[in-house]
Amino acid sequence: MAEFRVRYAPSPTGHLHIGGARTALFDYLIARKQSGKFVVRFEDTDQTRHVESGVDSQLNGLKWLGVDWDESVDIGGPYGPYRQTERLHLYQPFVDQLLESGAAYRCYCSEADLEKERGEQEAAGQMPMYSGRCRHLTPEQVEAFVAEGRKPSIRFRVPENRVIAFEDRIREHVEFESNGIGDFIIVRPDGIPTYNFAVILDDHLMKISLVIRGEEHLTNTPRQIMMYEALGLPVPEFAHLALILNPDRKKMSKRDESIIQFIEQYKELGYLPEAVMNFIALLGWSPKGEEEIFTREELIEQFDLDRVSKSPAVFDMDKLNWMNNVYIKKADTARITKLALPHLQKAGKLPETLSPEQEQWAHELVGLYQEQLRYAAEIVTLSELFFREDVNYDDEAKAMLAEEHAPVVLGSFLKQVEAAAEFTVDALKAMIKAVQTETGYKGKQLFMTIRVALTGQMHGPDLNMALHLLGKETVSARIKKLL
Ligand code: GLU
Repeated sequence: MAEFRVRYAPSPTGHLHIGGARTALFDYLIARKQSGKFVVRFEDTDQTRHVESGVDSQLNGLKWLGVDWDESVDIGGPYGPYRQTERLHLYQPFVDQLLESGAAYRCYCSEADLEKERGEQEAAGQMPMYSGRCRHLTPEQVEAFVAEGRKPSIRFRVPENRVIAFEDRIREHVEFESNGIGDFIIVRPDGIPTYNFAVILDDHLMKISLVIRGEEHLTNTPRQIMMYEALGLPVPEFAHLALILNPDRKKMSKRDESIIQFIEQYKELGYLPEAVMNFIALLGWSPKGEEEIFTREELIEQFDLDRVSKSPAVFDMDKLNWMNNVYIKKADTARITKLALPHLQKAGKLPETLSPEQEQWAHELVGLYQEQLRYAAEIVTLSELFFREDVNYDDEAKAMLAEEHAPVVLGSFLKQVEAAAEFTVDALKAMIKAVQTETGYKGKQLFMTIRVALTGQMHGPDLNMALHLLGKETVSARIKKLL
């Protein structure tokens, strides 16, 4: 049986976007599941949209996510090159074949001619579509155009009155009428093939068996099928993924800043790649049971195109943050510290180079907030009380500290603090216990008073640990200022 082969074919126009990452992930999961091959190739023929770093940034983004591939520009493979601009020589025989069989023809229309035609069609209330005016040029007409110096493009001759139907793995039966499709350009006047043409040749030459891509390409598919047929080539299977919508169920725009869309940004903000992979896998795919947390191996085992939805997926930032927190809680504190530390440093909270004591302190600080952290960069806002000069007391906190017991508890605690030989978590526990014995206050009146006095917050992370991290001096200074 032929090898199962899928491909991700981005245009390297920028960073890896969540939509592209999902396509690549689905490709990867299904390739691994079926012991097939996953190819990453680059459609870089549109030089106007080309970004030099686009290739690296796509590959690095995938690598970070934990997706790997079997063939691409970096590791080569049996069907390379994997960059379209390096494959141009491979396309010529197919152009010749289509021209010879009459399935394609040279078109000498200028941009101005085409615009005029479109204008006329629109004025007549028709859908703009190339009229086919160069379909039947006489040798004399061709000669005249050539003499004028016009360079032809090559158009595919769309057969009339045909229904082009295919069984999409996600959308099921899909059909289009050929009469709604005008003869389209397959090679531009500069000799560069267009997307629709190059893509089928690459898919054919790379022996791709299943094409997974976004639904925005659905209307390209009948064009591609007609070309496969005209060339006498087998047609691969297709799976068109529904859109990803933003949280207000509108089409996602790359400019929308309310959601994070680029894989690079997740990395920068300190999301965990395995959480992002898990989240992306659920954008359109639904597992069999209730469970939503999956390792990569589980995803490979359970992923199935039959459970990918026809309806759009909605991008839910809260769900992503929830999921990332699930992974953060399970992770090693050292790993999270490594991700969080640069954010504290960038925010000027900690110096660029840390002493071993400072390193230990940072590790404990991250540990203190690990249960709560949704992504590593959040440490800066969460741990803010450790870095400010003065504590912020809101009305509730002020009311709490105005109660009768507060100065008694704080006075007693201050005595303990000043006399303390060490300021460890255990020592602090004993000190608070001593305050209880001395003052007779316990429970909320004891703990909440100390918490609010030192942090300004009614709720927060482990109190003894927080006091330990604040340190003897800060604790004593903050209480003194209050009293
Ligand atoms: N370069 C196309 C894109 O980025 C690929 C489409 C396809 O997979 O056929 O959308």
